[in-house]
Amino acid sequence: MNTLLQYGFTDRIGALFSFHYPSGVHPARVVRTDRGRVMVATRHGILHLDSPDSFVTGDWVGLEGDAPVITGHLPRWSLLQRKRAHDPLSEPQVLAANIDLLGVVVPLDRPLSTNRLERTLVAAWDSGAVPVVILTKADLSSRFDGVVAETVERARGVEVLTTSAEAGDGLEQLRGRIGTGQTLAMLGPSGAGKSSLINALTGGVRQDTGEVRASDGRGRHTTTARELVPLGDGAVLMDTPGLRGFALWDAEEGLSQVFGDIEELFASCRFHDCAHETEPGCAVQSAIASGDLEERRWLSYRKMDRELASLHRRQNVAEQRRQGKAFRRTVRDAVLAKDYRNRFREG
Ligand code: GDP
Ligand code: ZN
Repeated sequence: MNTLLQYGFTDRIGALFSFHYPSGVHPARVVRTDRGRVMVATRHGILHLDSPDSFVTGDWVGLEGDAPVITGHLPRWSLLQRKRAHDPLSEPQVLAANIDLLGVVVPLDRPLSTNRLERTLVAAWDSGAVPVVILTKADLSSRFDGVVAETVERARGVEVLTTSAEAGDGLEQLRGRIGTGQTLAMLGPSGAGKSSLINALTGGVRQDTGEVRASDGRGRHTTTARELVPLGDGAVLMDTPGLRGFALWDAEEGLSQVFGDIEELFASCRFHDCAHETEPGCAVQSAIASGDLEERRWLSYRKMDRELASLHRRQNVAEQRRQGKAFRRTVRDAVLAKDYRNRFREG
């Protein structure tokens, strides 16, 4: 199998390349990035290239020339991104691109954190990838009753797979779930068993990236890198030791996927501008009263909705400031130009 096929190249990607680029542009996939350098998989093997910082693990890029340079960049169909913790106004940090399946990892050795599950599912849907819930540590599941059933209920139709890296259970099913040309990444809290699962799936054999710096011998495999690892048959795993979870970013889509039933209720409220608090004829409050809607879910939805609204307000303010600045600059330039013309005439 050529290297490119191992890293998820399919006829569909080939067609995208032919559509976007002339025939001299060769497809390659970014396996990992490293400050100004990228490691890419090509038909003829792995290459290390200089590159601008705009590429992330998972990107499809086009190469040209005998000493290849990156000249193309295919549009991304999914994007894992997070906002920087203390600066919600900054551009989101892009973590990875073109992930097809996003494993939402839920460990069975502790009680289920429903809020975290919902929040992660919202973010997962929003990335453009298809979420799949991966239960881990099934060998310890007897410690806490009902976590499996509760997760299935909360996942609301998202596929749930049960695994144990320790006992080897469910690994084949998970492996089988990643089709040819598909890339799986995993998200979950620290200690959830992500690394163990990755090791179990890869047999503990990680890619040797071969790039050892002569001076200090380091750089063989930094544990913080996000890196694609081929699992064989064109299935790819994104090894993401740093991906603990990610904050909401522009997640309306995801919110509707996870809480669609709640948003549907809004249409039945008597008043179209119902705040769903004490208004008469509020469908949300009556669903809570009748037990059809769990109050905890409603509160969880409202919290995320407010968080997004506040994020958007702050983004808008920042955007208006930017536009205001640009406008003032244009006015100033126009005034200067006029000034200049006038002086020119006078002179
Ligand atoms: P990560 O932080 O999500 O990468 O989690 P790790 O893979 O490092 O696992 C955290 C702890 O859980 C480690 O002590 C693992 O040995 C343990 N662990 C992981 N998977 C299993 C499992 O399937 N069964 C049991 N019993 N322990 C596990
Ligand atoms: Zn209402």
